[in-house]
Amino acid sequence: MRVTFPRLGTMHIFCKAIAETAGIPYLVPPITSRKTLALGVKNSNECICLPFKVILGNFIEALQRGADTIVMVGSGPPCRLGLYDLVHKVILEDLGLRYRWLTIPPRLTWEALMKNHEETKTLRRELTLRNYLTFPYALYIGWRKMLATERLERLAMAVRARETVRGSTQRNLQQALRMLDESSGGKEIKEAVRDGERIIQTTEQDRGRQPFRVAIVGELYTVMDPEINGGVEQRLGEMGVAVTRSSWFSTHINRSLGVGREQKKERLRFYQTSLEYLGYDVGAECNFSVGETIMRAREGYDGVVHLMPFACMPETTASAVLKQVSKDYHIPVLTLTLDEQDVESRIQTLLEAFVDMLLWRRDKKAAAA
Ligand code: SF4
Repeated sequence: MRVTFPRLGTMHIFCKAIAETAGIPYLVPPITSRKTLALGVKNSNECICLPFKVILGNFIEALQRGADTIVMVGSGPPCRLGLYDLVHKVILEDLGLRYRWLTIPPRLTWEALMKNHEETKTLRRELTLRNYLTFPYALYIGWRKMLATERLERLAMAVRARETVRGSTQRNLQQALRMLDESSGGKEIKEAVRDGERIIQTTEQDRGRQPFRVAIVGELYTVMDPEINGGVEQRLGEMGVAVTRSSWFSTHINRSLGVGREQKKERLRFYQTSLEYLGYDVGAECNFSVGETIMRAREGYDGVVHLMPFACMPETTASAVLKQVSKDYHIPVLTLTLDEQDVESRIQTLLEAFVDMLLWRRDKKAAAA
């Protein structure tokens, strides 16, 4: 058995930690590249959303390198993510690739547990007693590493907006994440976080700078994966913008499990706020994109960047609503629709124009005061 999973942001760090701690052989898919995307695009229907194609590309590359067991998250309607596994399986079989499949259910229902029981029938025979006994601890270590990566990334978002040497925060963040990746056990993780924070804080900063405050909202895959969004978060930070986002692995896991009081409350507030424009739950992140934009406007943010994959149903609805929200709440919203054709220069140009516009608004306000 050799387990693999989709490549999304820093997810490989905690997935790897779970597999290593439980002694389960694994293979991290290669970093998402043009080749990954080309494989996904070539073997998918052109109308399907971008994450489907990227994940398919990840799986093909991983299976070709020797993985044989795919672990994939599930979802419910109306988002297409809930159907990814059905279609991915057919495509991989047509390509002649051999694999076993395990879906992590979005909610712990009897139906999901039965499906899980069925899927793991052969896998269970390959697991050893050690795998079973260490698995709960492995999940705990994975969870700790996930929270640790989020903590380091949040710190980098704040520091990057004031860095004096372009790219220095990113270099320090990468070093901190490498240290965290190499750590094992609770004590080492704690030390890696402490050392990582210290490294990020050594970045030379201009403390007098007043960064713009911008929130990134939108479809979770495009928000959380810098390989897909062209590094929007880093680019904005390096233009002097303090970026915020509410979409993290912990947010989505907590939401699925119905735990994490603060995050649950925040998500509920976004959802309830969105009802001013949307009469019901459209699905996926749509209501949260709208609700968060309104709340960030009320909190005095300078702008919002809305990320969505081409052909994403829920976020297409959100983008239409956000045009009105932008007018009503006087907050600039830049919607970036990402697809496989995207080139970094287009993203860079659009972000530079957006930040120039924020600067112009700030100057205009200052002149009027
Ligand atoms: S949220 Fe959009 S992009 Fe993501 S899986 Fe659903 S339809 Fe596709």
